Amino acid sequence: MNKFPYSNDNKRYHTYNYYLKNKYQQKIAKVSLNAGFTCPNRDGTKGKGGCIFCSDSGSGDFAGNVYDSLQKQFQDVSTMMRKKWPDCKFIAYFQANTNTYGTLDRLKATFEPFLDYPDVVGIAIATRPDCLSEEICDYLYELSQKCDLYIELGLQTIHDSTAQLINRGHDYQTFLKGLERLRKRHLDVCVHIINGLPYETYDMMIETAKVVGKLDIQGLKIHNLFMLKDTALHKMYLQKPFPLLSREDYIKLVVEQLTYIPDSVVIERLTGDAPLKDLVEPLWSIKKVTILNDIDKLMKEKDLYQGSLV
Ligand code: SF4
Repeated sequence: MNKFPYSNDNKRYHTYNYYLKNKYQQKIAKVSLNAGFTCPNRDGTKGKGGCIFCSDSGSGDFAGNVYDSLQKQFQDVSTMMRKKWPDCKFIAYFQANTNTYGTLDRLKATFEPFLDYPDVVGIAIATRPDCLSEEICDYLYELSQKCDLYIELGLQTIHDSTAQLINRGHDYQTFLKGLERLRKRHLDVCVHIINGLPYETYDMMIETAKVVGKLDIQGLKIHNLFMLKDTALHKMYLQKPFPLLSREDYIKLVVEQLTYIPDSVVIERLTGDAPLKDLVEPLWSIKKVTILNDIDKLMKEKDLYQGSLV
C-alpha cells in the first residue's frame, strides 16, 4: 500500500490534483491566457532576444490567442473544458511572457475582471523575479486578499554560469530577492526549473533541486528542456551540438530530485508540453504519460518518496 499522504492515485509525490481536490473539493482546471505582456529579457530592458529556449510566444505556446480579448480566450477554453468536466471551476492562468511587467493600472485592468467570474476560483500569474518591485508585490498582496492567488516564478537553474549561457537576464541572487518579497507577503509561489540545460551535468541539476528544496516555496514545476525550431537554442545546437539528456537519465534525475523536495511542496509538473510542429528535441518527451508512469515505477522500485532525503 502507498503510504504517501498527498496523492489520490498512488503516486509518491504531492500531486497537483490532490492539492486542488483537497482544497476545492471539486475538479479545477487551469485556463492559460495570453494578456499580451512582453518580457524585459526580450525588449532590451534586461536583455535582448530572451532566454535561448523561449519561443516567440514567450513560453506561452498553449496560452490563448493574444489577438482575442482575455474574456474571449477564457470563454473559448472554459467552454471546451466544460465538455469534459461539466461542473468544473477554473484558475485563470496568465502564462505567456512576464505578467507583472507593466504599470499597476495595466495589471489591475488585466487581472481584476476575473474576480467577478463566478466560476473562477483563483488567479495564477507567471513572472520573472526581476519584475517584482515592492510596489508590484504590494499590489499582488492586495489581489491575494480578493482571490486565491498563485505566483509562478521562473528560476530554471541555480547556476549563474548556466543562467548566463541561456541568456536568462538575472542571476540566482535576484531570484532570491524576488522570492523573499513574495513570501514576506505570504504569497504562494510555484518555482519552475528546467532539466537538460546546455552543459549542465547530472550533479548540477541535482544541486538545483537540493537548494530549491530548502527554500520557502509552495509549488514546483520540473520541465525538461525543449529545443524548438528557430530558437537561439536550436541555432546554438546546430553550430555546436551539446549532449542532450536521455529519457532514462531524465527519469532517474527527476526521481532523485523529488527526494530532496519536502513533501509539503506541491509538484505541479514533472514534464512539459511543447508544440509538436516546432519540437526538434527531445522527441522522447512527446509521450508524456509513459514518462510519468516510468517515474512512478522507478520510485516504487527504489522505494523512494518525495522528501525521502530531506
Ligand atoms: S523570461 Fe520567460 S518570457 Fe522572458 S524570455 Fe525568458 S522564458 Fe521567455
